[in-house]
Amino acid sequence: MTHQLKVIERKQLQEKPDPATLGFGTLFTDYMFSMDYDPELGWHDAVILPYQNIELSPAAQVLHYGQAVFEGMKAYRTGDNVRLFRPDENFKRMNKSNARLNMPEVDVDFMVDALTQLVKLEKEWIPTGEGQSLYIRPFIIATEAYLGVRAATHYKLMIILSPVGAYYGSDHLAATKIYVEDEYVRAVRGGVGFAKAAGNYAASLMAQTRATELGYDQVLWLDGVEQRYVEEVGSMNIFFVIDGTVVTPELNGSILPGITRKSIIELAQHLGYTVEERRISIDDVFEASASGTLQEIFGSGTAAVIAPVGSIKYRDQEIEVNDSKVGPITLDLYNHFTAIQNGTEEDPFDWCVKL
Ligand SMILES: *Cc1c(COP(=O)(O)O)cnc(C)c1O
Repeated sequence: MTHQLKVIERKQLQEKPDPATLGFGTLFTDYMFSMDYDPELGWHDAVILPYQNIELSPAAQVLHYGQAVFEGMKAYRTGDNVRLFRPDENFKRMNKSNARLNMPEVDVDFMVDALTQLVKLEKEWIPTGEGQSLYIRPFIIATEAYLGVRAATHYKLMIILSPVGAYYGSDHLAATKIYVEDEYVRAVRGGVGFAKAAGNYAASLMAQTRATELGYDQVLWLDGVEQRYVEEVGSMNIFFVIDGTVVTPELNGSILPGITRKSIIELAQHLGYTVEERRISIDDVFEASASGTLQEIFGSGTAAVIAPVGSIKYRDQEIEVNDSKVGPITLDLYNHFTAIQNGTEEDPFDWCVKL
């Protein structure tokens, strides 16, 4: 395991984008991080270098058998103050994904240090407007050139950075429309649903495309066995407010254990809300709507942070939630959560790492 980090300077820096035009994941900063793995040296050649294309053999195993995991996190800036939100959690989760996909684990402390150095170097790229941040994408791919099916021997870990605006456009608390997928499934217990594996997304695209064509923003996935229990939304975990209680599906091996999810549970409890992690069926949700106890629904994830859900379509029924407006508990959680991330409110959990 290497603990040296080389920096290769870039001759000419790019012009920074106009913050008013920022979308999601289209622009990349001047530098990136890269590190290689082989069985003799372990992880080695850690380097911060100019953002550039990489060279891969066409036989690289990732291209054929999909050994690829990734992470997503953000850096926030107010003035000269830069903070990362629970970066150690992301690299711990990356190791869980690595273990499941038979990939080598990384040194969490080293990765947090390397990321800190990269983000410090790229500080000027962190936009400061409302809902804006620097999106951080660490990922690992199998680079060994070999067509046999087995765990690869060579890997590459990279971190790229992208200045982003609000995930769902300028009106970041506009309610999203959700389509409940009842044909395809995203993940099954015993599979890789809990891992941030690239292939999970490949498996989800068809349902997402269909939902988009039908005029919905996101897919809500049901469990892979009975297709009855709510799991999560495309790239977000899901929360319901039913009769004053905050309810979210319990982690069961096929749901991605979101760091935003975990943090929202802690924050909600800290604010005095009752939180339940339990199995919840799609019928329970529709019955709560019919009886008037379904008050709010929101999704949680790094990219969107908290996204209110305004309606849910399941088979031939569609329900509206809180008149398609952000509800009071969702808003309360959003305000505290983003204030902690931005450093405008005290961080009682010590979540933020100040650079
Ligand atoms: C990344 C991800 C989430 C959200 O996780 P966070 O750590 O909160 O960003 C939820 N569901 C899926 C499928 C994901 O890939």
